[in-house]
Amino acid sequence: MTELWPRLAATAATAAFLLTSPTARAAEAQIELWDGQRAMGVITDLLRFTPRAMGEPGHQQTIDYIKAAMAKSAADAVLTQSFTAKGDDDKTIPRRIIVATHYDSIIKAYRDAKSPDDPMPGANNSASAVALLLETARVLSLSPKPDIGIDMIFFDGEEGPKSLGAGDPTWRPLGSPHFVAHLKDYYPTHKPEKAVDFDMVCDKDLKLQPEPSSLASALPEVKKFWSIGSRIAPSAFMPDATAYAISDDHTALQQAGIPSFLVIDFDYEPYFNTTQDTIEQCSAQSLETVGRTLLRYIYTP
Ligand SMILES: [Zn+2]
Repeated sequence: MTELWPRLAATAATAAFLLTSPTARAAEAQIELWDGQRAMGVITDLLRFTPRAMGEPGHQQTIDYIKAAMAKSAADAVLTQSFTAKGDDDKTIPRRIIVATHYDSIIKAYRDAKSPDDPMPGANNSASAVALLLETARVLSLSPKPDIGIDMIFFDGEEGPKSLGAGDPTWRPLGSPHFVAHLKDYYPTHKPEKAVDFDMVCDKDLKLQPEPSSLASALPEVKKFWSIGSRIAPSAFMPDATAYAISDDHTALQQAGIPSFLVIDFDYEPYFNTTQDTIEQCSAQSLETVGRTLLRYIYTP
């Protein structure tokens, strides 16, 4: 059953959900199914829609692409925030984890020395994490159900009202605060147990550092994720935290009282928010490292 939710203007949040129900028995991850080349293909597909900023034609194409890919997965339901599902999920699924990213991209490459008004391709920021979630959804469709229900959320408007991200001094994410303001539409009685948010995960030189606000909010989960990742790709998982907190969509989830952490390789110079944020900076192996870690993390109680 669906109920029409008021559709707001172009700045409204749009989230798609992957709702999988856990089974009674313990299940194991089949991480070898997670295919970095497939994820690279998703990034290539998404780059054809650039700029994927709010109000641009590529924005709606991105939404349609994500919804079509999720519809092919084993998701129990794919919802946008224009609709709210009533009824059966909350009472049957006590444990849920949010796995999130943003799908909008910066409208222009404001940090580019030569062409600051050109489109910002956004392969790493953050087609990479959309690819991460879609490939994970595909593998979950082939796998036994984990013991925790998974809600994949693709947030809109992370790059702020001007779609300029850090290039806008008044930058603030739009979609995730909108989502948490309406949290009860999706979680009427229990908040999700925890959340993990991904952004910028395809860099060839992948170095993931724990982020301070994540350590404060979800220390055991960060430790678990880094411990699993260190066994899969020791060189990619750094033990030391970043020197400063990073705001992203996990921030609103933290403020809503959900233990939440960010997985990001924020050291992306000289490409960050330039015309050079292209598929050439991405690596299938880096995507596989993060994707396989996520998969094993999902299956680790
Ligand atoms: Zn981002």
